[in-house]
Formats: sequence, C-alpha cells, structure tokens
Amino acid sequence: MINRSFKPETRLIVFTDLDATLLHQHSYDWTPAISALEIVESKGAELVLASSKTYSELWDFAEKLGTQAPFIGENGGVIAIPNCHPLSSHTPEEPNHDGYRILTNGLSREKLLQTIATLRSEFGFRLQGFADWSAHELGKLTGLSIAQAQKALRRQASEPILWQDNAEQLVLFEREVELRGMKVIRGGQFLHVMGQTDKADAMKQLLACYESSFPQAKFTSIALGDSENDVGMITQADFGVVIPNPKRTEPLVLEGRNIIYAPQAGPAGWNTVISELFESL
Ligand SMILES: [Mg+2]
Repeated sequence: MINRSFKPETRLIVFTDLDATLLHQHSYDWTPAISALEIVESKGAELVLASSKTYSELWDFAEKLGTQAPFIGENGGVIAIPNCHPLSSHTPEEPNHDGYRILTNGLSREKLLQTIATLRSEFGFRLQGFADWSAHELGKLTGLSIAQAQKALRRQASEPILWQDNAEQLVLFEREVELRGMKVIRGGQFLHVMGQTDKADAMKQLLACYESSFPQAKFTSIALGDSENDVGMITQADFGVVIPNPKRTEPLVLEGRNIIYAPQAGPAGWNTVISELFESL
C-alpha cells in the first residue's frame, strides 16, 4: 500500500475533485488513474482531496488512496488536517478521535437548513435536500450503499439539494439565498447551498499554511475538476486541469494561466494529464 506521508522535500501539491474527476462518475472507480497516482507518490507530491463530500466520506477515500495530506470537504466548508501533518500546528482545534483537526468555514448546516425552510415556506420553492431523505432514499438517488449514504448525510457546513422547480424560480432562489449571506453552487447532480466560501478559498488557505510552515520552499499547485464548483480552484492554481464531463451540455472553457484540457473523462483523463505534466515538473 502506498504511504503518502508528508516529506520535507515536497514541493508539488495536487488538489483534486473526486466525483467525475479522480473517480468515474457512476462506478466511483479510480483504478484507471493508478499509474499517475504512483507518479504523484514517487515525486513526493501531496495529494489533497477537494470535494463536496463530507468529512466521513473523505476519511474513507483518504484511507483507500493512502493519502495522509489534509483534505477539503463540503466544497470548502470543511478542512481536515491529520494531527501528524506539519500543517496541523496552524489550527487551534483539538484532534478528533480519528486523529484529524477539523476547521469549518462559512456557515453551519443548522443555520443553512433554517434558511432553506424559511424560503420554502415563504416562496413555495419546490426542492428537496439531504435533510429530507433517509440513507436508503439517498442511496437510491445516488447509487451509494446505505453505509456510504449515512456518511454523506453527516454534514457540517453545506446542504445539497435537488431542484424540482423551474429555472426562473431557481434564479429567485439564488438571489434570496445570497441576500441571506449564503450561496448556491452547481455540482454534478445537486445544487449545494453553503456559506460564502468555496474549494478555491480552502485551497488558498492550505497553500498559505504550507508556505508559512516551509518559508524557504516554493510550492507549485495543480488543481483538477470537472464542474462549476471546481472553477475557482482550477483557475487559481499554478496548473489547472479541466476533466471533461460527458453529462455536461457545454464543455467547461476557462480563462487562466495554465489551463489543460484532459483528453478523456474521469480517472482516465486524470491519468493522462498528471502523467504528462509530472514529466515536466
Ligand atoms: Mg466533480
């Protein structure tokens, strides 16, 4: 098993989305990216997962992928840093029983749910969210097992919703949400209601921690993603990688310094781009 613990000579940091980026959009398989993941490991690079998934779900993926780097959950609402990692000194939080220190950004889920309930009754919006579903119902919608769905429901700083109303009402919903200090971001299957933070903010926060922990080092960031919720991260990294998503009606075209478009979707595209890029870094 790969052991991706932090190495003092580490200079490359890979921030990656999971669904439809490192993971196949239906099967959640990442094995087509194994050879690139091994290159990432052999270069001593950090592998930072950055997803709309929860802490509990990402904990599992970090284990499976053998990464001991910090990870970003709930679209930037949660940052988890292993207690044994050099960056853990940047947070005053005590480690939890899994050995992670958790930072939350934006708004608590409780506050988000209160606001969504208020808007629903005031405007009659037709929508359903994770808070409305059992693990069984969520499993049916997403293809997750019951155990996985239970972990997906354990949220701290965001609420994914399924929009069941028309496009006009969605514009109104987005405006009302913004007036209340929150925002809506469009992921693959769900809209995510959360505080004013995103994956790019969390990426920058972590990069600042790496830089202050290792002031002599010059870090290079690489960010990969397939959806709107990845755009900030992709355009603000030193190298941004767009993974095509076959479900999109229009391809994601971005302005940025070094944007690379993967030739294939999901983990196959991840593998091609990272293998080629790491040869030149
Ligand atoms: Mg994605």
